[in-house]
Amino acid sequence: MQKEITLEMITPRGTILQQTVSYVQLPTKLGLIGILADHAPLISALDIGVVTYRPVGAAEKKAAISGGFLEVRDNKVVVLAPTAELADHIDLERAKAAYERAQQRLKNPTQDIDVDRARAAMFRALSRMRAKNTVR
Ligand code: ATP
Repeated sequence: MQKEITLEMITPRGTILQQTVSYVQLPTKLGLIGILADHAPLISALDIGVVTYRPVGAAEKKAAISGGFLEVRDNKVVVLAPTAELADHIDLERAKAAYERAQQRLKNPTQDIDVDRARAAMFRALSRMRAKNTVR
C-alpha cells in the first residue's frame, strides 16, 4: 500500500487543514520543495507562495501562504504560516484589488511608500490568484 503523509496547515487563527496526502510541494526560501512519504526530517523557512498537495484518492489542490515555517518528520508535514488560505476560501476579487493597489504603489513610489511592503503585498495577492489557477 502507498505510504501517506499527514499535512497540517496552522495559522494564528487555528488549523485550516489536516489531511492525508500522497504529495505536497511547498515554496521554501531556497526554492520549491516536493515532499513524498519517508522524506528526511527537515525544518525550513517558507516563502510567500502556493502550496500544492494531493489528498489521497483525490485531485490536486492548492493553498496560498504568506511565508512561515515548515517541519517534516515521521511522515508529518507541518506548515506554520502568518496567513494561509485554501483555494476554495480565497476571495479572488479581493486578491485582484490588492494586486492592483500594490502595483500602483510600486509604479509611483512616493516617499511615504514602503516599497518592500508593497512588493510583499503584491506577491501575496499573486499567490492567491495562482492558488485559484487564474494566473501562472
Ligand atoms: P488585503 O490588502 O486584501 O487585506 P493582504 O495581503 O494585506 O490583503 P493579509 O494581511 O495577508 O492581507 O491577510 C489578512 C487576513 O485576510 C488573513 O486572515 C488572510 O487569510 C485574509 N485574506 C487576505 N486576502 C484574502 C483573500 N483574497 N481571500 C481570502 N482571505 C484573504
